[in-house]
Amino acid sequence: MQDTRLSVATAEIAALRKRLARERAARLEAELAAEKGFRDLYEQQSRLQLLEAIAVAANSSASVHDALEFAVTKICLYAGWPLGHAHLADDAFARKLRPTTIWFVADRERTREFRRATGEIHFERGMGLPGRVLETGAPLWLVLPAGEPSSEGLTPRDEYAVRAGLKTALAFPVLAGTEVVAVLEFFSDTRQQPDEALLRLMSQIGTQLGRVAERRRAEERLRHDANHDSLTGLPNRALFKARLSQLVARHARDPGEGFAVLFIDLDRFKMVNDSLGHMAGDRLLVQVAARIMAALRQEDIVCRSAADGHEVLSRLGGDECTVLLESVGSAEDALRVGNRIIDGMTAPFMVEGQEMYVGASIGVASSESGYASGDDAMRDADLAMHRAKSLGKGRCELYDHSLHALAARRLALETRLRKADVAREFVLHYQPIVSLASGDLAGFEALVRWKPQGEALVFPNDFIGVAEDTGLIVPIGAWVLGRACSTMREWQRRHPCDKPLTISVNVSAREFAQPDLAARMGGIIAESGIEPGIVRLEITESMTMGNIDKTVEVLTRLRALGVRLSIDDFGTGYSSLSYLHRLPFDVLKIDRSFVLKMDRDEEGKQIVRTILSLARSLHMEVVAEGTETATHADLLRRMGCDYAQGYHYSRPVDEACAEQLIVAFAARDLARQRTCAG
Ligand code: C2E
Ligand code: MG
Ligand code: MG
Repeated sequence: MQDTRLSVATAEIAALRKRLARERAARLEAELAAEKGFRDLYEQQSRLQLLEAIAVAANSSASVHDALEFAVTKICLYAGWPLGHAHLADDAFARKLRPTTIWFVADRERTREFRRATGEIHFERGMGLPGRVLETGAPLWLVLPAGEPSSEGLTPRDEYAVRAGLKTALAFPVLAGTEVVAVLEFFSDTRQQPDEALLRLMSQIGTQLGRVAERRRAEERLRHDANHDSLTGLPNRALFKARLSQLVARHARDPGEGFAVLFIDLDRFKMVNDSLGHMAGDRLLVQVAARIMAALRQEDIVCRSAADGHEVLSRLGGDECTVLLESVGSAEDALRVGNRIIDGMTAPFMVEGQEMYVGASIGVASSESGYASGDDAMRDADLAMHRAKSLGKGRCELYDHSLHALAARRLALETRLRKADVAREFVLHYQPIVSLASGDLAGFEALVRWKPQGEALVFPNDFIGVAEDTGLIVPIGAWVLGRACSTMREWQRRHPCDKPLTISVNVSAREFAQPDLAARMGGIIAESGIEPGIVRLEITESMTMGNIDKTVEVLTRLRALGVRLSIDDFGTGYSSLSYLHRLPFDVLKIDRSFVLKMDRDEEGKQIVRTILSLARSLHMEVVAEGTETATHADLLRRMGCDYAQGYHYSRPVDEACAEQLIVAFAARDLARQRTCAG
């Protein structure tokens, strides 16, 4: 009985013990679970804290460098990893990484060699741990080989890592969008298996840091935009002026450091812009910039040009550019560079399927003139550029002190011209045009002169340019046409002849661009009462280049007035023969430079022959300008040229003399012709 009770008690005790053990195990399990939960929670929280700290630092840091430095340190402290480093992508294409000075180092001595080796490597895509991250754009966890140093498959840098006792590595990219801008790598001296949560955290940090890089880039872009021309990407006026000031200051400190400013203005650009439109003008400018750049990049360049020809060329606006030459030996060297740019412009440009020629006029100011400010150097380069323009364009001129006097004269001329009374201060001179076959007078060209009160005659080359710039050419042109027509009407009345004389009048580029030109000219001719058929409007060849359709339209409208059209100064404008046949010209005037060249050699004669046969095939009459000698006249006649104009017959003469010439020619009175012609 007692036995039975004992055994029952024992069983109960055993059961109780079991229960106790079970409950203890359950409680332990619960405690463990709770602890793990806490731990996880804690871990999660400290990860969040890390992420937040880095995000805050990234947003407030002054540079990408600062943000990376902060992140590398924080991550090492958080993970308890003793070594961290940042590599930066070396350019916008992120083809390579370069080492930086950004390190976290717990133990300097032990890791010295490894850090030195890392600092010497530019990792390419796919190369080593950083290169692999650069290539894939994803984080990477690596357990370093346990092998002895120099065991197979180890890179030299890995060998240093193993020697330094580093056992695990982790690297992740800093991503701006999809582009890797930096790679951060960390090393641990314990062997650890990949920790997915940690890798995820690193990805998030990489994205946060990437935002700084993106923001920095946007700021840089803004700064770049403020200093560069949006069309060509070239530095703009502000940046150019800042650089020029630096050069002036440097030259003041060190006179051995010479510099030069080249001021470039395109010839005929306005015409392209006006006739083809701004889009075409813009496209042309981009091509021109590339040509200039190519000229600057040539190897035997005589000076140092910053950054391979880039950045030395600036666009000030419109068709004005400047080139800054550093460390130029002499002004002659700068001129050589200028001439090279001009040479580079001789080939045609293709814009919207049209060939066009633009040249450049360049003014040079060199530090040899001694400048106290960049603005002074600019002003002189600008003056020299205007000198290049007035000497016939397509050339490079060096500033010298006489230019100031010239500029002052031009300014005075401009002021006076603005106030000029057109009807009173301008006079017309007339130059005969003679038929080569018969020797008869065929007509006159009216050439304007300015006679400011109490002063000598001013010739067109000295004021037409200014009159064009100021717009005064329009009233002058109207007066010239009216005066020439009414004078001719008067001569016709007093000296009637079988074949009426023609009257040629020059049209300026500015007038040519006026939309109501034909209507206004029609009115003036009608008012004078002469037959429109005897009027010849001279349009210089260069004015017809540019937009061919527009030119054809204007010429057609003029021709509808019943007048005839002459292409003036032919041969100087590079007009393309392929479009010449579309232009409704009746007369071609060979530029006098070709007539002069006939004296030189057979080739000179051949050119004139070629122009003559071209004109013939286009059914145009030909006038040879600048016929200065009997030999010229004789040659031209034998070549079949129709008319000649030049000093051989007469210089341009005033109205009274011109009238005497009419009489003398009619009477075939050569002696009298000579006295009239002066
Ligand atoms: P252009 O129309 O080609 O006129 C011919 C120029 O050559 C004239 O110069 C004339 O005096 C000069 N010339 C004539 N024969 C000879 C010669 O045998 N040898 C040399 N060396 N020169 C000769 P000018 O009168 O000084 O006029 C120069 C230019 O000014 C003209 O060239 C024309 O483009 C422009 N011009 C003249 N009058 C007017 C005008 O009323 N309106 C406009 N828009 N332009 C004008
Ligand atoms: Mg003319
Ligand atoms: Mg001419």
